[in-house]
Amino acid sequence: MTDLTRRSFLKAAGIGGMTLAAGWTAAARSSEKAHVVVVGGGSGGATAAKYVKRFAPEMQVTLIEPKATYHTCYGSNWVLGGHATMDDIEQTYGALKERHGVNVVQDTVTEVDPERRTVTTAGGATMNYDRLIMSPGIDFRYGAVPGITEADAERVPHAWKAGEQTVLLRRQLEAMPDGGVFVIVAPGNPFRCPPGPYERASMAAHYFKQAKPRSKILILDNKENFSKQGLFMAGWDEHYGDMIEWLPSSEGGQVEEIDVATLTAYSDGGFGEFKADVLNYIPPQQAGVIAQRSGLTGDGLWCPVDGKTFESTIHAGIYVIGDSCVAGAMPKSGHSANNQGKVAAVAVIRDLAGLEPETASTANTCYSLITPDHAISVAGVYAYQDGDIVSVEGAGGVSPAHAPAPIRRMEAIYTKGWYTGIVGDIWG
Ligand SMILES: Cc1cc2nc3c(=O)[nH]c(=O)nc-3n(C[C@H](O)[C@H](O)[C@H](O)COP(=O)(O)OP(=O)(O)OC[C@H]3O[C@@H](n4cnc5c(N)ncnc54)[C@H](O)[C@@H]3O)c2cc1C
Repeated sequence: MTDLTRRSFLKAAGIGGMTLAAGWTAAARSSEKAHVVVVGGGSGGATAAKYVKRFAPEMQVTLIEPKATYHTCYGSNWVLGGHATMDDIEQTYGALKERHGVNVVQDTVTEVDPERRTVTTAGGATMNYDRLIMSPGIDFRYGAVPGITEADAERVPHAWKAGEQTVLLRRQLEAMPDGGVFVIVAPGNPFRCPPGPYERASMAAHYFKQAKPRSKILILDNKENFSKQGLFMAGWDEHYGDMIEWLPSSEGGQVEEIDVATLTAYSDGGFGEFKADVLNYIPPQQAGVIAQRSGLTGDGLWCPVDGKTFESTIHAGIYVIGDSCVAGAMPKSGHSANNQGKVAAVAVIRDLAGLEPETASTANTCYSLITPDHAISVAGVYAYQDGDIVSVEGAGGVSPAHAPAPIRRMEAIYTKGWYTGIVGDIWG
């Protein structure tokens, strides 16, 4: 691949501010045999693996992911609403292997040794790496609320990692009687996909309106406000009347205990108890377990990184991207993880070639469906400044309030377009 082609890739990747710079080819020759290992084949990891290979095809890239197929969380609320199927949100690793030359290994990483620069897998393999990129997503902090453990996820699904849990929650919603109450317990910040619980309520309401119109949806929220709140609430009024009720933490939303047997959530401050027919508890979250076990979270719950490169500030040579890392103003989203995957890919290649890191600007867009024909969005642009990732003032924003139906319909079309575009960019 010529330098020019590499630069075109960077522009296409939306990180056109970065180049691999003159001198790349000569320097890169010394790193031709470099082995980059990527942990996790989700939004961040699959992007990073693909783009290291595209920008530096000479390098050996191994992606380790336990699942043979990946279901995107984005679109999983549409499955709950009944207007998309699990097949619609399923991604595979064929293109990464065959088109891009990534060595995809179906296994789970059980140990990372930052000194020896090795990873060990559940399948018993030990691999050396020159640079490691970790994107293991989130794990749950069951234990934060008494009465519920991970073993209860069959009866009280989280559906916050798409797959079997999505199918389970959809089945429970289908089995719920008309006039039943669907309770969503939403976590405090930070968590994966800030608008996600509210899109979920919207999609459930869309389904109930057709199939069981006497039903109610109650969101018990462990915070005082939420992403795109005004737009969601206006959309709920317009389409669902009083079907959806939202309680902030100060008015009973702060859940103190859950009784799994009776599907009851108890709120603190004497606000009482809420009995559900279907209970969706979305637990508070932290970086994926392997990131914690590798010491990448330090004393905290998430992995601190250098905002320019996404290299861990704890272990040199390991880059952490996606939901697991602390990315300043960037939200924990698939779009963010995808952008971070490209930044980390370039940073790793430049580092291996002995080049200084470059500064990238990144972006995020989150679309949410209120009905299949009414969508709203939030967008942000981010820059590296004084060691942090900050929002660029005046860039981005949210959908206009009081927009007419054709604008909302147009955004619903963009939502599907965004999905097709991003999964093509990550796994295509
Ligand atoms: C309901 C819902 C709706 C959402 N909607 C949107 C949306 O509209 N737009 C948007 O941008 N984002 C959305 N998101 C957020 C988005 O899904 C995540 O932010 C994104 O997937 C994060 O990417 P990641 O690479 O960090 O983690 P993931 O995509 O979760 O990938 C992590 C991968 O690591 C693997 N893994 C974990 N541990 C190991 C290990 N030890 N060894 C090997 N592999 C391992 C896992 O199997 C997994 O495949 C939504 C999330 C939810 C829950």
